[in-house]
Amino acid sequence: MIIILKEGFKPGMPEMEQLEKVAMRYPDLKLSPHNVKGAIETISEVYVFGPTTQVPLEAFDELPFVEKVFRVNSKYKIIGRHEGQTEVGGFDYNGVRFDQDNLNVFAGLCAVDTREHVEMMLKGLKEVGLQTTRMGAYKPRTSPYDFQGHGAKCLPYVFELAGKYGIKVIAMEITHESQLTEISYALEQSGNPTGVMVQIGTRNAQNFELLKHVGAQQEFPVLFKRGMGITLEESLNACEYIASNGNHNIIFCLRGMKTNLGDPHRNLVDFAHVPVVKRQTRLPVCIDPSHSVGKKVMAPDGLLDIQHAAAQGIIAGANMILADFHPKPEAALCDGPQALLMRELEHFLEDIAITREAYLKRRQEAKRFAESQG
Ligand code: PEP
Ligand code: MN
Repeated sequence: MIIILKEGFKPGMPEMEQLEKVAMRYPDLKLSPHNVKGAIETISEVYVFGPTTQVPLEAFDELPFVEKVFRVNSKYKIIGRHEGQTEVGGFDYNGVRFDQDNLNVFAGLCAVDTREHVEMMLKGLKEVGLQTTRMGAYKPRTSPYDFQGHGAKCLPYVFELAGKYGIKVIAMEITHESQLTEISYALEQSGNPTGVMVQIGTRNAQNFELLKHVGAQQEFPVLFKRGMGITLEESLNACEYIASNGNHNIIFCLRGMKTNLGDPHRNLVDFAHVPVVKRQTRLPVCIDPSHSVGKKVMAPDGLLDIQHAAAQGIIAGANMILADFHPKPEAALCDGPQALLMRELEHFLEDIAITREAYLKRRQEAKRFAESQG
């Protein structure tokens, strides 16, 4: 059960004692207050955990400071979109808005290799007006003999250069909770010139202890990548692990599924699931066309498969794009074959803008049609 409080009422106010009193009338109920920061206002919600089936909605609804009470029938208690909930959800982080209505492009290096390449990448982003990027420092690799990432060593120059080029958010995968402290320390040492969104990679999608750790901290938002070989439901449950530990600033990323049926692409593109995730949850949805397609190949129409995949996600309403670029893909230490060139960045963004416009027009048309039906 979720109780939405009227504007101006917040957890911690004396009125909340009345909620506690109502809860005490029923056995084993536990109240958990949360603030949901929207673009315009902050909504305060109180989750009621425990055996709520016998609790009538009116018990809470009749209190004067209660706006609405929902019965939560989905298993995604916190991330779920429950009956009657129409809000876009989302959050702000370091001056950047993330929700189910907008679109952010994170173009950058799959893995940090040299300071020079980081600088070329970030300079290129500034030139096109982007303030969000991806930079892998801790890389989970299939083979132990492959480049594992520079780890904490590269963080000082990555953060310094991010500050120099006005980058506000860097998506960065972590593979162990100790890396949260390393990132936090390096940010502080460099004077917090940028922000970090910690990424949980597909290989750690069901590493529940890691999920609990990223959930228990509030410093960094979390980009969760769908598990490559598990169901959507299992991946969403993994996100609920993060949320139920306290951190609700989560973005769900589709990155393709591992199956030979996707050949010759690296993974089978699953971007038709964008609307599914938006319907079942209030999480903004990211797509990663680079790791889905896995190679830089072009169709006879002059568009790269990666661009086509990106367009499929955007036309379906994606809110974030993660894309691999590299100033010298042939020298990249990780995923060079799927990296686009710096000179292709502007064209890539233009193609995205065209598709996004088409998506917004589709929404308008759907609204017009719904209104015409009365
Ligand atoms: C990545 O984004 O660098 C990555 C390793 O992705 P995934 O976890 O989706 O394979
Ligand atoms: Mn990669």
